[in-house]
Amino acid sequence: MANFRRRQQPPVFPDYRSYRPYLQIDFRRQCCYCGMHEAPEHPGSFAIEHFRPKEKFPNLECVYPNLYYACPRCNRFKWNHWPSGPELEGGSRFWDPCADVSAQHFYCTFIDGAIHARTKCGEYTRDRVRLDRPFLRTLRLRRIERQRRFRELCVLLRQTKERIANSANAPEKPLLERVLNELAKALEELRPRAVFP
Ligand SMILES: [Zn+2]
Repeated sequence: MANFRRRQQPPVFPDYRSYRPYLQIDFRRQCCYCGMHEAPEHPGSFAIEHFRPKEKFPNLECVYPNLYYACPRCNRFKWNHWPSGPELEGGSRFWDPCADVSAQHFYCTFIDGAIHARTKCGEYTRDRVRLDRPFLRTLRLRRIERQRRFRELCVLLRQTKERIANSANAPEKPLLERVLNELAKALEELRPRAVFP
């Protein structure tokens, strides 16, 4: 589950679809609910999500802070759900990926990728958006594994660099150091995709 911060300040558009390029930057082309990435070969396949549904809040249809970016499934499951007055009073509401820290509302079990709620808000969101669906469990397990391998590689790279730095001045040392620096750069480029959002 990712958290997002808005940095774009788009002009006011009469059609909410015009905000798509700004949303793609602010949401890093990720689904605001499940964290899945939009496939680069299908740009624009994700939906513009109205956090407060436009059917219930028509005045917010084109208001940028109410627009989020979501994969088609999460967008469909969330649909036009919005908590009623009594639900809100009981603490049931949607987790806001732009305002709420995900770890305060959810946690994931590493053995099966299942997502669990810590709060009423987490429970309400998980159930409405179906965040515990099998596909997302698999996706989370893959992310956990990717993160583990990424950390392992970082440690291995650091240890190798230290050993080479402390070794005698062998003729191949400059070449090895260059290779390791290139590897370190490549790893850094992978970091945003490797670290669990
Ligand atoms: Zn999603």
